[in-house]
Amino acid sequence: CTPGGPKVREENILVTVRMRPLNSKEVAAYDLVAWDITDEHTIVSKNLHHERHAGFYTFDKVFDPTCSTRKVYEEGARDVALSALSGINATIFAYGQTSSGKTFTMRGVAEQAIKDIYEHINFTPEREFVLKFSALEIYNENVVDLLNRESGSLRLLDDPERGTVVDKLIEEVVKDGQHLRHLISICEAQRQVGETALNDKSSRSHQIIRLNLVDLAGSERATQSNTDGTRLKEGSHINRSLLTLTTVIRKLSGGKRSGHIPYRDSKLTRILQTSLGGNARTAIICTMSPALSHVDQSRNTLLFATSAK
Ligand code: ADP
Ligand code: MG
Repeated sequence: CTPGGPKVREENILVTVRMRPLNSKEVAAYDLVAWDITDEHTIVSKNLHHERHAGFYTFDKVFDPTCSTRKVYEEGARDVALSALSGINATIFAYGQTSSGKTFTMRGVAEQAIKDIYEHINFTPEREFVLKFSALEIYNENVVDLLNRESGSLRLLDDPERGTVVDKLIEEVVKDGQHLRHLISICEAQRQVGETALNDKSSRSHQIIRLNLVDLAGSERATQSNTDGTRLKEGSHINRSLLTLTTVIRKLSGGKRSGHIPYRDSKLTRILQTSLGGNARTAIICTMSPALSHVDQSRNTLLFATSAK
């Protein structure tokens, strides 16, 4: 795994990239590794003379295929996750094309974050915490409660104090880590494509904890072209929530906070608005395949990751 200790800057958006190993299908097809990781911050295209872009990408941290999810959590998400305990709105995303490792990564990150958060809660008995859990999925711009799918498509309401809230979304008070894992497993069974949101709240000290763990739709749905450059049919392909999120993150990063940020253009960005702007920290873990056959989608992911810094 790439060497070096945690390198987490005191910035609102932390951007890391995780490259998964070649999978058995890619190995069987004699697919090649298209990228070099030259140090813990840098990915370089192996085929520089065919690169239309610089072919050289740097991030807060790059995790090579041998890195464990534990390492990814510790260096790419932990600081953001624990900032939730001090009342900061914390959000962790996994972004990448389908089969690049988003769900694999977010499951492990969720597991580690839960363990960590409970350890910290047990370490501060003078503060009383109330953890509330809710989970939803956004599919074709329909918001569905993963704890109660029968309630159908939920409406978004504008609350003067809390911002956008999901009407009738169940919030379960979490008893302990085991209960939380049980709730997550219910949602895992319920989900199609969506995301996991974890809302925690402290009572006695009036500190609000909010941690969103978001497993996004495949990033190929944020672009209008196929991996071979051909244009895909709009509507059947573009994911409005994902497309709007990438625009919002681009606008929030790089000091471009002024100007109109189109939070209201999609369900996902409306729900996450208070978690992305203001008193907020965000970790974006971009996942990618090392394979030559996926090089165009991987490059799109690296370009998004670069624009998010
Ligand atoms: P996505 O959610 O982005 O579509 P998945 O997380 O489902 O992708 O990953 C696709 C497959 O690759 C799964 O079988 C998963 O177990 C495997 N995989 C993903 N990332 C890794 C990794 N870092 N190490 C080993 N296997 C991985
Ligand atoms: Mg997935």
